[in-house]
Amino acid sequence: MDGDRSTMMACLGIESTAHTFGASVVTGDGKILSDVRSTYRPPPGSGIHPREASRHHAAKAPELVASALSSASLRVDEVDCVAYSAGPGLGPALRVGAVVARALAAYYSKPLVPVHHAIGHLELGRLLTGASRPVSLLVSGGHTMVLLPRRSRWRVFGETLDVTVGQLLDQLGRYMGLPSPAGPEIESLAGGGSRLLDLPYVIRGNDLSFSGMLTAAKRYIASGARREDVAFSVQETAFAMLCEVSERALAFSGSGELMVVGGVAANSRLRAMLESVARRQGARLELVPPRYSGDCGAQIAWTGILHYSHGLSVDPRASRVIQRWRLDEVTLPWIDR
Ligand code: AMP
Ligand code: MG
Repeated sequence: MDGDRSTMMACLGIESTAHTFGASVVTGDGKILSDVRSTYRPPPGSGIHPREASRHHAAKAPELVASALSSASLRVDEVDCVAYSAGPGLGPALRVGAVVARALAAYYSKPLVPVHHAIGHLELGRLLTGASRPVSLLVSGGHTMVLLPRRSRWRVFGETLDVTVGQLLDQLGRYMGLPSPAGPEIESLAGGGSRLLDLPYVIRGNDLSFSGMLTAAKRYIASGARREDVAFSVQETAFAMLCEVSERALAFSGSGELMVVGGVAANSRLRAMLESVARRQGARLELVPPRYSGDCGAQIAWTGILHYSHGLSVDPRASRVIQRWRLDEVTLPWIDR
């Protein structure tokens, strides 16, 4: 980044891909001046309804944007750019963040910077951990991937072929009547489990499949197995799969860093299992503080800073949202080697 100009910069970032509406102000030297958010919670037993999520976001947006700015002691006209998560995600939810960002950028004549949500997780992870070229496990509601930053892109080493690990936990939770997102409740249920039930462990090449495990886990619940044992077995089996592919990527790349980001990275059992993987491979496990592992405005504000300081912004009239968008299609000039 270019010295003084970028370190003095401040970016207002807006996140609204799924459950969470978030707003944050981050500076060019990576200080998170503010980060506020509100999460839409559907009734227990049901999943996210895109229109309801967008209503939640539209209702919360004004106070959250105002609060992000006032906690950062800045007015809108004092920020250097406005970034928004342009995708991938749920159309109605994405559009709320895009409309808010577009309106602020147009009215205050600020550069508008579209950000790929998952790249936000990865880059905020690098900022907060100090990792440089880590093998990265991205485990969230929308993504399950093992990646490496190489030659202007985050390159995919392996990924899920069907549902993400977040969807596996959320859909199992919904089937059990738990509130969504169910990851934390599954984690606490798993703490009371002891019996390892047999579940499909499916890895093809470096890619993973979780849909058979979800079906089998629901079948165990339907046939009266203890919920604690099902939650325990799903965590042990799914996380072992993630560890196997992450370990292979570490061995293949020779990277001395293993970073884990995304909402599922908050899970302490996953963290402990990855700690063993890193130790075996002589690598350091880089953990994002749980507060910043899930969706938040800071991931968008920081990636907005990176893009803007490398010359990217768009005309608000031409800005759009992209519901399906692979992260390895995005060119990132700051990943140079
Ligand atoms: P994100 O899309 O990055 O906000 O991540 C959301 C996903 O993280 C959802 O699928 C949640 O169920 C999951 N999640 C959040 N906390 C935990 C946890 N402690 N253990 C497992 N999954 C979690
Ligand atoms: Mg996410």
